[in-house]
Amino acid sequence: MDVRVLTACRWQGMSAEVQGLRLQPEAKLRYLKKIEKIGNVDPYDNKETWSRENPEDLPPLTFPDIFSYLVCGVSAYTANQFRNYKSMEAHVQFTNGWVQDLEVLKPPQCDFVVIRTKVMHSQRLNEPPLKPWVIVSIAGRVECAHCTCMAGVAETCTHVAALLFKVEATVRIRGTKTVTDEPAYWVLPGT
Ligand SMILES: [Zn+2]
Repeated sequence: MDVRVLTACRWQGMSAEVQGLRLQPEAKLRYLKKIEKIGNVDPYDNKETWSRENPEDLPPLTFPDIFSYLVCGVSAYTANQFRNYKSMEAHVQFTNGWVQDLEVLKPPQCDFVVIRTKVMHSQRLNEPPLKPWVIVSIAGRVECAHCTCMAGVAETCTHVAALLFKVEATVRIRGTKTVTDEPAYWVLPGT
């Protein structure tokens, strides 16, 4: 089947949210390609059950993983490195509390998780928040991202970066917990 027809067919099944973004054909194709990694789940859909604010569900994302993605990552459109040093400043958005709750989904039999959130506009607080999502391997490597902002198609906007910084900080705090903080650590011996 012709790739354009195939894309159009698959696009019909996407959420109203992503259809409302009015992406260009090339961006639609790229979007569909990205979500193949997570069993074709559309991160803007609410059909699946997302886990909220459970740090145990987050992959072990570290600061070097964020740098590798935002600066050394390669654009699927231009084949050039992102080199988005500016987005590395987005931790300000995270520390100012503009990043809302993290929601995590790990499709069954999948080596990737998808994490989504909402980020408030930094200048226009009364506007609807932006909605970035990222796909991260269970080992913590950032694979790809998307956002509803004007620059979101480029996959390295400040909202994506702010989401990544929140994940990194949450994982880091999780790592400082001692084993006695873990309720599951106290397992009764079998009888
Ligand atoms: Zn954005």
